[in-house]
Amino acid sequence: MQRLTLGDFELSVFSDGTYPLDGGAFFGVVPKVMWSRKVAADEKNYVTAGLNSLLIRTGKKTVLVETGMGNKLSERMIKFYGQPAKLIESLNAGGVSPEDVDIVINSHLHFDHCGWNTVRDKNGKIVPTFPRAKYYAPEGEWQYARRPSERDAISYLPENYDPLVESGQMTLLKGGEEIVPGISVKTFPGHTAHMQAIIIQSPGENPHISQRTRDMGHPPNSSYVPTACYISDLMPTTAHIDLTWGMAFDLYPLQTIASKKQYYARALPEKWLTVFTHDPKTPWAYVEKDATGKMVARAI
Ligand SMILES: [Zn+2]
Repeated sequence: MQRLTLGDFELSVFSDGTYPLDGGAFFGVVPKVMWSRKVAADEKNYVTAGLNSLLIRTGKKTVLVETGMGNKLSERMIKFYGQPAKLIESLNAGGVSPEDVDIVINSHLHFDHCGWNTVRDKNGKIVPTFPRAKYYAPEGEWQYARRPSERDAISYLPENYDPLVESGQMTLLKGGEEIVPGISVKTFPGHTAHMQAIIIQSPGENPHISQRTRDMGHPPNSSYVPTACYISDLMPTTAHIDLTWGMAFDLYPLQTIASKKQYYARALPEKWLTVFTHDPKTPWAYVEKDATGKMVARAI
């Protein structure tokens, strides 16, 4: 578990474990001679993907962004992906019990992003894993998930969200909403049509300026607000920060590029901390342009 302070908020990354993904699928049209310089593949061409959830303590609320792969995969899917199912124990090890979580936010509804939304109880009934939490997910994702294309139908498991929508425990988002002060969502199409990034800005008229902020050259009395963004599958790892390095899973590859441009237009000048959903080693980093114009991820 890694932890940092962002303004008045405390951010921690908790992992649901790692899983194997085909390297070709992970890097789309990028040739293996190029991506294999950044990420090692095994003899079956699998690379290791992480499952990073972000926990935010605002001082008033405990907010969990993304819930990993969970523990309800079918035998067939376990053959492909395994089922690490580590999130609850890693939260517990960090002193967080499921009852502590006030809010759960899903960027989209693929099985590896909302798997721990629900569990089966001892009678086999699907129940919320985080009993007190209000859940949020993009409305467009949920609509699409009801009738997915043949291409990605395997990625949607209704038991991760339908019971929560039916019970009223999950609120569906249009995009652009502020869920609690300082935590909002914004739609970045590309991976799917309705995927939303989660933007975290420490609020208040008098933002606490961290040492990190001073290190970046912002004076203590500036109005600069430290910002982090869980960009989800728009840029799943630090190896995907180049504009053209998208995944083969992306339904709308040209929109992935346009969305990355839109993201960088704010994230670079405002020095946002980017949180990477599937990076097994570097869950967060500052993305910058080096002197040659190449995107680089500066770990913290
Ligand atoms: Zn996805």
